[in-house]
Amino acid sequence: MVSKAFPPTFQYFTTSGGARVYRLPLEAFPNFWAYAYLVLVGDYRVLIDCGSGNDGSSASLEAALAQVNQQSDRPFRFEDLTHILITHGHIDHFSGLVFLCERTKALVGVHELDLHTLSHHEERLAVISHRLGVFLSEAGVEAEPREQMLRMHKFTKAIYHSLPVDFTYETEGMRVGPFEMIHVPGHCPGHVAIRLNDIVFSGDHVLAGMTTHQSPEQLIPYNGLGHYLESLSSFERWAVGARVILGGHNAPIENLPGRIAAIRHHINERLQTAFEFLAEGHTIVEVAEKLYGRMGGYNALLVTEKAGAYVEYLYQRGMLEIVNLNEMEESAQPVTIRYRRSNHSASSEILVQEVKHVFV
Ligand SMILES: [Zn+2]
Ligand SMILES: [Zn+2]
Repeated sequence: MVSKAFPPTFQYFTTSGGARVYRLPLEAFPNFWAYAYLVLVGDYRVLIDCGSGNDGSSASLEAALAQVNQQSDRPFRFEDLTHILITHGHIDHFSGLVFLCERTKALVGVHELDLHTLSHHEERLAVISHRLGVFLSEAGVEAEPREQMLRMHKFTKAIYHSLPVDFTYETEGMRVGPFEMIHVPGHCPGHVAIRLNDIVFSGDHVLAGMTTHQSPEQLIPYNGLGHYLESLSSFERWAVGARVILGGHNAPIENLPGRIAAIRHHINERLQTAFEFLAEGHTIVEVAEKLYGRMGGYNALLVTEKAGAYVEYLYQRGMLEIVNLNEMEESAQPVTIRYRRSNHSASSEILVQEVKHVFV
């Protein structure tokens, strides 16, 4: 049943308990695909995530539902849904609620740390944009590209408006009927993975073929590499015995320990490269360019956030110091910060081992 085909295809799975799981490919944005999953188990007819809700995403959701109906005797309609369970508060996973709220009375659930992203979206966007402006200034992004990045960050205003949420997973004891949740912050504050029998829905926490996006917790509390690595360990223990991991993007994962080892290795390499580069004082923008090369457009924002997460991780653990502290002390405005390794006497090799030791 496992396919690595692209563009993503409709697929179905059966859990060890006999539940039927349909994987619904949604074109969340042009040429950017996400998966929602329709799960039928007992009286529960559950949609896990729901795409971005823009025209392409909603059209592909309807097309996928038509494929579900080719597989079953009784037609399934949106109004038959009992629950919509959101894995995390990112636009490609929850914004389809705008499309669905007129078509179903299904109860919407999310983790409490992502509740405001759904129910007070405009406020969250304003707060995070403000913090992002400060972060980008401190990272060393010039005024013009900074304004451009902030405009790009606010694009969700056009496709989502705040909607009520019916319950949070905490209030339900991290269980909804036969579904069990675990909180895995790092990629997103309220990220959860959801388990039904021997199938785990991992959202963006663990994906095949790519390391999940990181951003610093200076920007959003409960994000950040430290939280992500802790969550990776708790997720690995919690998911023991799962036969297949179904992500919000990319192919199913059948070898979870192997996939998690590859993610840790990738992060370790990035940390080491950043750490070696910071033998001299550098800004986060310069670290981003070292790690990812020069980027433009939305990618420039993404790599600045990623480099910010790596630098923050090293700084939080006392491995870096700020070179231009005087400048910071003298200004009430955000100042571009230059970081450097804090231990100049030890050799690079020893320090690299130290980095490894911190989180493996
Ligand atoms: Zn995400
Ligand atoms: Zn995603």
